[in-house]
Amino acid sequence: MLALRWHGSRDVRVEEVPVPAITEPKDVICKVTGTTVCGSDLHLYHKEIMQLQKGEILGHEWMGIVDEVGSEVKKFKKGDRVVASFQIACGECSFCKEGLSSMCDRTNSSRLQEKLYGKPFAGLFGYSHFAGGFDGGQAEYVRCPIADVNLLKIPDSVPDEKALYLSDIVPTSYHATICADVKDGKSVAVWGLGPVGLFSCKWSKLAGARRVIAIDRVPARLALAKKMGCHVINFDEQSDVVSQIYKLEPEGVDCCIDAAAFRYTKGLLHTVERTMALETDSSETPNEMLRAVRKFGTISLVADYAAMTNQFLIGALMEKGVTMRGCGQAPVQKYWHELLEKIESGEFDPTIILSHRFKVDEFSELYDAFDKKEHGIIKTFVQT
Ligand code: NAD
Ligand code: ZN
Repeated sequence: MLALRWHGSRDVRVEEVPVPAITEPKDVICKVTGTTVCGSDLHLYHKEIMQLQKGEILGHEWMGIVDEVGSEVKKFKKGDRVVASFQIACGECSFCKEGLSSMCDRTNSSRLQEKLYGKPFAGLFGYSHFAGGFDGGQAEYVRCPIADVNLLKIPDSVPDEKALYLSDIVPTSYHATICADVKDGKSVAVWGLGPVGLFSCKWSKLAGARRVIAIDRVPARLALAKKMGCHVINFDEQSDVVSQIYKLEPEGVDCCIDAAAFRYTKGLLHTVERTMALETDSSETPNEMLRAVRKFGTISLVADYAAMTNQFLIGALMEKGVTMRGCGQAPVQKYWHELLEKIESGEFDPTIILSHRFKVDEFSELYDAFDKKEHGIIKTFVQT
């Protein structure tokens, strides 16, 4: 089968590899029908995440058709249409029982995560040995461990293009707005208008936010946010994003969401190496939020932070009484039934951000374009 494999920084290749086999009785093998690239994959593409090994198959957002079923799988049979959660949860530990599938205690034993975070979070599909070392779904077939917990059946009424994003960005963006305490009548500002940020804008609008301010520099993304009714700020054209926000919201914004993948300061891309060398500082976006947020407002961090932070404005956090929440990897299983209903009823249309379709053998070009934000690319659907 064909699969997208990581070979080094900005070096990913579509290669012929063996079709995976069932190794555990709770496994399912799926024939992938749809997959895509996520901002989270860019952290791997840039080699920001440690413990990547050459030849790993990437991809944590995928859907497909059940092809083979392990002896202990109860909910699925050959031929079922399913979407996978990007995280792999056991369904039995105390975190899973609380509905916090992304915090599963049993599917990732990364020693490095233990050292950095005290306790590792759940394993992820296609996200290096830092997240369990599971092969991903940017491939023609994939093995899904503990399938009864990590797959969701899709009704015939929901086409592939509307179902795929339930694997990650639909629940992730929804979770980001809940963590930011977005509610009817509140003002919201979203940093980063990739798929996660744009959907966060949409959920905020649906929740009745009084004003949504959307910040980025990519024209196609700013244009889509504007079409949704957001007030847009191009950070390349403004020397100070925060003062622009205060012009619109004199008391500051109630809810801030950080959905930026890579942060740029004066044209410099943040990387772990640059941050460690104090060339750039990954606290820039949180600091803008800490300055722009209303006193006693809420900030939610849904963007992944691989780098350290050196100049964090801890004084603003304390003196303004800010609640700052790390969203964690979004607990997909907690939300996906409710969100599937919203998609099925037409209340939420995930295809509003779908800009390009690709075939599996075009994956390397897709990574490059998605990384450079070229050709108006926002979110893609890759048919396998
Ligand atoms: P993306 O790369 O498509 O979009 C990120 C956007 O941020 C880009 O348009 C970029 O121009 C913008 N940006 C960069 N610097 C900025 C700045 N200083 N101010 C404002 N905007 C800025 O990525 P995506 O797919 O939307 O993902 C966004 C982030 O969310 C990534 O870090 C990803 O890893 C993370 N993520 C987290 C979860 C989770 O469960 N917590 C799940 C999926 C993705
Ligand atoms: Zn993702």
